[in-house]
Amino acid sequence: MIRIKNSLLTSRHEEFINLVDSISRQYIDPIADKIDRENYYPREVMRVLGKNGILDPKLPIDYGGLSFDNLSVALSVEIISRYSGSLGILTEVQGSLVAHSIYKYGTKYMVEEIVPKLATGELIGSFALTEPCCGSDAAAIETRAERKGGEWVINGRKIWITQGIYADIYVVFTRTGPKEAKHKTITAFLLRRNNCIEATPLEVMGIRGTGTSELRFNDCVVGDDDIVGKVNEGFKIAMDALNIGRLAVASVALGLAEAAYDEALRWVRERTAFGNPLIEFEWVQYELAHMRALIETMRAITYETAMHFDKSYDDYYAFASIAKLIVASNSVDIARRALQLLGAYGLSVNNKLNRIYRDAKLMEIGEGTNEVQMRVLSKWLVKHD
Ligand SMILES: Cc1cc2nc3c(=O)[nH]c(=O)nc-3n(C[C@H](O)[C@H](O)[C@H](O)COP(=O)(O)OP(=O)(O)OC[C@H]3O[C@@H](n4cnc5c(N)ncnc54)[C@H](O)[C@@H]3O)c2cc1C
Repeated sequence: MIRIKNSLLTSRHEEFINLVDSISRQYIDPIADKIDRENYYPREVMRVLGKNGILDPKLPIDYGGLSFDNLSVALSVEIISRYSGSLGILTEVQGSLVAHSIYKYGTKYMVEEIVPKLATGELIGSFALTEPCCGSDAAAIETRAERKGGEWVINGRKIWITQGIYADIYVVFTRTGPKEAKHKTITAFLLRRNNCIEATPLEVMGIRGTGTSELRFNDCVVGDDDIVGKVNEGFKIAMDALNIGRLAVASVALGLAEAAYDEALRWVRERTAFGNPLIEFEWVQYELAHMRALIETMRAITYETAMHFDKSYDDYYAFASIAKLIVASNSVDIARRALQLLGAYGLSVNNKLNRIYRDAKLMEIGEGTNEVQMRVLSKWLVKHD
């Protein structure tokens, strides 16, 4: 059984860790390689996670969650990611981006009917913000929703959308006024899977099997009832979701780093060189010590950030950026160090570290690149320090 020591964990968190770990061991571990190699979308595991309240544990029990906290969200994503970064990201998108946005900003119907189905994995959801024109500069999106005869008609393109080819519903961010008004003319809509949406799969090097796709919206007709939040207030919803998403991405990166460390430790205990197990060489011990020190530091900032959300501290968003920046970049570094300890075996396509190394890289890009996190932080420190 997995053992995590941290002063912020209660006995309820510890029970939850064991639950997520035993489910991950049973359902995710056996297919983690298949997800990566065959680009296999683990639909059935999404249902299992959903039935156990793990897709978004902070939702109330009546809505398919566990009425738990943001630390439980971080823990579930971290532990799942020890087994598969892809499933960590799927959980993060389904729970922290899609279910969270609809639960917090959706209409009564959306909250009552859609959220519980997302939480239990009955429905699959996508969060469609990024466009070919613009990723970091999300306020520049061009997909348009135009008012025509009491309805809205959506046209445009989105790219790199997780679960895009498998989704039943899409939270789509659109332009509902002049582009010059930037973030002030963006509106979020909830679209159901429909022939007006063309989804094309995109091949990516890591986090495979997550249904990454390009989406085209061709005259998709929706009504006022399909607006998530209010007209022209969609940017706020996107940023709110991305803040909690950044905490979750940091948690994926932490889980990947822990898995990389475990693989490296196992290897250096077994592998010998110059007549000795690798672990007996001082440089190898120092490498392990360095990785372990980084992991405990990454854990501290990730869990602390979750507490900033739970306690509604006003700097929670800056902490989300700090966590994402520090944990993602160190996760890539740890994956690199771990792979180095395996020599050529780490490069084998059959080795788990190879997958972790490729998966970790996305954590420095998705939900705001490292540079975007520094942009958020520099604006925050100018105001507050
Ligand atoms: C596998 C995968 C899954 C994804 N899933 C989703 C999803 O589900 N939904 C969704 O909406 N999006 C998704 N994305 C998109 C992701 O969020 C964007 O790729 C990301 O925000 C970066 O945007 P971009 O790729 O357009 O890079 P760009 O914005 O073009 O940036 C390119 C480079 O320029 C740097 N840069 C940009 N602006 C500045 C600046 N002002 N100062 C300094 N440097 C700067 C960036 O940091 C980056 O290094 C996904 C991406 C991937 C790869």
